Amino acid sequence: MLCEMCGKEVPMLSRVRLERSVLSLCPDCAKFGTLIDPVPSPAPAPSGAPGSRYRPEGGVTAHAGPRRRLEERDLYQEIGEMELVPDWNKRIRLAREARQWTPEVLGKKLNEKKSVVLKIESGSFHPPDALVRKIEHVLQVRLRAEPETAGTS
Ligand SMILES: [Zn+2]
Repeated sequence: MLCEMCGKEVPMLSRVRLERSVLSLCPDCAKFGTLIDPVPSPAPAPSGAPGSRYRPEGGVTAHAGPRRRLEERDLYQEIGEMELVPDWNKRIRLAREARQWTPEVLGKKLNEKKSVVLKIESGSFHPPDALVRKIEHVLQVRLRAEPETAGTS
């Protein structure tokens, strides 16, 4: 292969832009121009090249997983609910307020989150048996409707 500038025989020529023309030049002459086609550069992969920001859409990220935070409702779902007095949530709130406990304080005593306490007090969350007993114990209130209407005290 002959350099188009100096005519030297070289094993490899570089394509070099020199002024307005593109020449095949030996390494020595290539310095005078701008290399435009540096020898065999690995062809970049058309897609999925490392560092490409493009991500195929529509896939669920593999490890995000379907795991979500358990709702309080789910935690207690299996436990049957006992019959409660109609104003059970009000009783809880009143008993708590009588003790001047914040929902957080009651939550801590019940080993529950404040949000659970608030849900219970608003009546939107029906506490399971175990929690009803706990609340009754902690607040010294009666929440269960008496099944046997005895009690002629
Ligand atoms: Zn040359």
